[in-house]
Amino acid sequence: MTNSSLQERKVKAIARGQGNAYPVYVERAKNAELWDVEGNRYIDFGTGIAVCNTGHSHPKIVAAVKAQLDNFSHTCVMVNPYESAVELAEKLTEIAPGESDKKAIFVTTGAEAVENCVKIARAHTGRRGVIAFNGGFHGRTNLTMALTGKITPYKHQFGPFAGDVFHAPFPIDYHNISVKHSLDALNNLFKVDIAPCDVAAIIVEPVQGEGGFYAAPAEFLRQLRRLCDDHGIVLIADEIQTGFGRTGKMFSFEHAGVEPDLITMAKGIAGGFPIAAVVGKSEIMDAPLPGGLGGTYGGSPVACVAALTVLDVIKEEGLVERAVQIGAIFNERLTALQAEYPQLIGEVRNQGAMIAMELVNNGDCEQANIALTQAIIAKAAKYGLILLACGFYGNVIRFLPALTISDELINEGLDQFVRLFDEA
Ligand code: PLP
Repeated sequence: MTNSSLQERKVKAIARGQGNAYPVYVERAKNAELWDVEGNRYIDFGTGIAVCNTGHSHPKIVAAVKAQLDNFSHTCVMVNPYESAVELAEKLTEIAPGESDKKAIFVTTGAEAVENCVKIARAHTGRRGVIAFNGGFHGRTNLTMALTGKITPYKHQFGPFAGDVFHAPFPIDYHNISVKHSLDALNNLFKVDIAPCDVAAIIVEPVQGEGGFYAAPAEFLRQLRRLCDDHGIVLIADEIQTGFGRTGKMFSFEHAGVEPDLITMAKGIAGGFPIAAVVGKSEIMDAPLPGGLGGTYGGSPVACVAALTVLDVIKEEGLVERAVQIGAIFNERLTALQAEYPQLIGEVRNQGAMIAMELVNNGDCEQANIALTQAIIAKAAKYGLILLACGFYGNVIRFLPALTISDELINEGLDQFVRLFDEA
């Protein structure tokens, strides 16, 4: 079996809408490395899009999942619940930012978590409007597409979209969009498009993920909190990509010292087992009627024990603190590379181990170098490196290593990355 023979079969069998993935077909993966079907080894700087924060196939998670499978694999939380779901809800409500009494619900994907947040916010407020931000990404379902800021490929051909969704600019220093500009635009939206008394929720990623790894300034998140308090609007933190230690805090909102009303959690929650959650203030969470939220697979027992073990591993191995160290190593080396190639490399930025490098032409932040980004990503696989792109124009290389990665592997991977530039 070869990567190219599998790619040929894939192109025939899997519709192109599910992405044009790397032609690297995985046979096995361990911690921060993976091996393809031809026996080639890769250092994984993508972790399946910020999912395997605890590394691939962590032995403790594998053991917990195997034991659960020997016991039972599915009964449905809504039919015959089990202790692991209750315990996971207790733990998630404990670690979520803020002191309020909280409750949780479980679903299967990030997009579902976002959809359920909006349902809960609407049930709580009796209002219709939702405000999201330009460049944000919230999923591929009907409502989350509407919330998502980027058109291609997420929205192109898929309208009409869910209504009562409005967008405001996200503050990005690098692109000269100030906090004041964003807040003025929000206030203007309240005058022109929808009165604040009709707005159920504002949803924000504390660090835009697919949008390019732009961290919201702490002051912006604090001002959003104030705005929501003033108008009785539910503040939703989309922590799907930023959660579970990735940014150097358990959740990125902690950097700003802000307590959101509802939080979405997915990706890093269970080391690759499909589960997502909404955690939020009890009085808001309990607004919908029994049976109005969740789904058949939400909070699967296998995923619940995986998630509980992920939480143990994060604590035992100090992965939140490790994310800060990882970010510092990447930042230092990528900044040095930027100094060598100032015409091609724009900003290097990170919040913990959510690290990005912007590729530009002529050193100009407004000239996205999409061709170079694509060339580097494609060539990286040949150099034994798994890399991902993101950004509104797709010209940002993002680094999302496992938080269990060693310094040696980071440096080996970055040596290869530097070579890619030297040979570009
Ligand atoms: N929200 C954010 C911030 C995300 O990064 C993603 C996925 O990348 C989603 C929502 C959607 O999650 P899922 O792909 O699990 O539906």
